[in-house]
Amino acid sequence: MPTYTIGCFKLPKSLFRDIESLIRKFWWGYKGESRKVHWVGWNKLCKPKCQGGLGFKDIENFNLALLGKQVWRLLHNKESLFYKVFRVKYFPHGMVLDENVKQNGSYAWMSILKARDLVRQGSAWRIGDGKKVLIRGDKWIPRQQTENRVKAEFQPFEAEAVLSIPLSTRSTENTLFWQGTKNGTYFTKSAYRFLVEELGASKPGPSNTQAHKHFWQKLWTLDVPNKVKHFMWRACNESLSTKLNLYKRKVTSNPRCDLCHHEMEDTVHAL
Ligand SMILES: [Zn+2]
Repeated sequence: MPTYTIGCFKLPKSLFRDIESLIRKFWWGYKGESRKVHWVGWNKLCKPKCQGGLGFKDIENFNLALLGKQVWRLLHNKESLFYKVFRVKYFPHGMVLDENVKQNGSYAWMSILKARDLVRQGSAWRIGDGKKVLIRGDKWIPRQQTENRVKAEFQPFEAEAVLSIPLSTRSTENTLFWQGTKNGTYFTKSAYRFLVEELGASKPGPSNTQAHKHFWQKLWTLDVPNKVKHFMWRACNESLSTKLNLYKRKVTSNPRCDLCHHEMEDTVHAL
């Protein structure tokens, strides 16, 4: 799939499901029509390796991250023809992130609309003269021109903090900066990571603690063949085809070990 296409258009979910399904079948192996057990869910496979996944690319999120780049260009490349054309057609009185932009239009524009939330969530305003920042609704480094408004909106201690933020003395516009990179510029890779780690597949949970991270990093850097690492990964994810695991997935009716015939063949017993 050419990057150009997924960089400009939001592709249909059904297409992503089909591609993922092909990758999953390839990964878990399949013969003809018989469906092999897919032991670990797609979301888990797409987590980064240090979070217990296998770092598969979630193409739908990648698509969104690429589209975010277009939103970014519409915010920052104001000299470009791309900006001028889209501005005239879809947001003549404001900017691409405004709520009142045109809600219909070309497929490219509809695609861009879908990536606005990503940009909103992953970035923040750096205050220039404070003219264009909303108090509620926009993320901003606190400041507003009118002290009374600030005092009315905030608790006294908050208002004090807000009003102590120095304003730029020159009349500069506020700029939106991406929070995931050091220089505040949007990078597709950073946006993708933000989607997968912060918003999507791997919401922080017990399996996401620092200790787990350390464990996974250890596992993937072990000096053993890749096959062995993947075997260990599967053992850790209860995804080896032990009798108990097969029983849980209703592939077999007997969870007991074939050798001793009385204990459950769980992962530890099998190993
Ligand atoms: Zn046994």
